[in-house]
Amino acid sequence: MDNCLFCKIAAKQIPSAVVYEDDDLFAFKDIKPAAPVHLLVIPKIHVATLSECNDSHIELLGKMLALAPRLAAEHGCAVTYDADGTPGGGYKTLINSGPDGGQEVYHLHLHMYGGPRPWRGQR
Ligand code: 5GP
Ligand code: ZN
Repeated sequence: MDNCLFCKIAAKQIPSAVVYEDDDLFAFKDIKPAAPVHLLVIPKIHVATLSECNDSHIELLGKMLALAPRLAAEHGCAVTYDADGTPGGGYKTLINSGPDGGQEVYHLHLHMYGGPRPWRGQR
């Protein structure tokens, strides 16, 4: 898409703090982090919202979601368990869709928020 901010970021026409890239996905730091770790995972192809997705996008969506725990581990917010099994660490994954979903950039993206609470964007 010619005039899409995240297409331009994925194409490196606009700089970003890149944390991951492969043939299908691109991940970078959110410019206005709402948590100590705030990353965005996007497909390289232009998909405006989750509502444009169909069965042909299932593998891509799975890859986006599966990247989150890998990035969490790399950025110090993996879910951990102590000796008695009590969980620690962790992160939130979120996709905003459409105006009522709070979406501001119309290129599909998965937010990954992590770090010790409290943080601004927590719910
Ligand atoms: P949305 O509300 O659409 O789910 O989230 C869009 C996110 O993109 C926001 O968290 C916002 O801070 C982030 N964002 C907007 N413009 C830019 C930019 O130019 N660079 C980066 N890295 N993040 C951006
Ligand atoms: Zn786009």
